[in-house]
Amino acid sequence: ADHQVADLRELLDSTLTMLKRKIGADVTVKTDYDAGLPPVPVFAAELNQVWTNLIVNALYAMQGSGTLTIRTGRENDHAVVEIGDTGVGIPEENLDRIFTPFFTTKPVGQGTGLGLDISWRIVADRHHGDIRVESLPGDTRFQVLLPITEATG
Ligand code: ADP
Ligand code: MG
Repeated sequence: ADHQVADLRELLDSTLTMLKRKIGADVTVKTDYDAGLPPVPVFAAELNQVWTNLIVNALYAMQGSGTLTIRTGRENDHAVVEIGDTGVGIPEENLDRIFTPFFTTKPVGQGTGLGLDISWRIVADRHHGDIRVESLPGDTRFQVLLPITEATG
């Protein structure tokens, strides 16, 4: 797939629409998009996979009820997409292992442990971006940074 210049808001909204049936009635979705954010060069289908992985993880962590927050913003020459949840959180000792292939805390059959590995590769290798994570019980945020000006691929 070729890269294209995309409005991150459109990508995120289309992922949310796709996931609509997975989002339970007791999960509130809040979006807060930076209207001034310029379009970003992306591999759209691959980034949609990243949003899907992060949102599915967030939903799992909330066990059916909580608030899913999706924000966009800008930090210098990077666009930032933050996906936040009010779920159980990630214990400190796991924070540097979650991007490792096959690392999962889910019961057998419920997780492959590949979602964050794949997401990392899509963001870092394909888009020259970065993923940051901060987590406390009830407040977990994944931030995806994407270069605004640099061509990808
Ligand atoms: P999987 O979802 O198959 O377990 P991932 O690579 O997507 O694999 O995630 C790895 C692990 O990271 C999860 O098993 C979980 O322990 C942790 N994790 C990821 N996202 C979250 C989140 N939003 N809240 C709590 N834990 C998370
Ligand atoms: Mg996952």
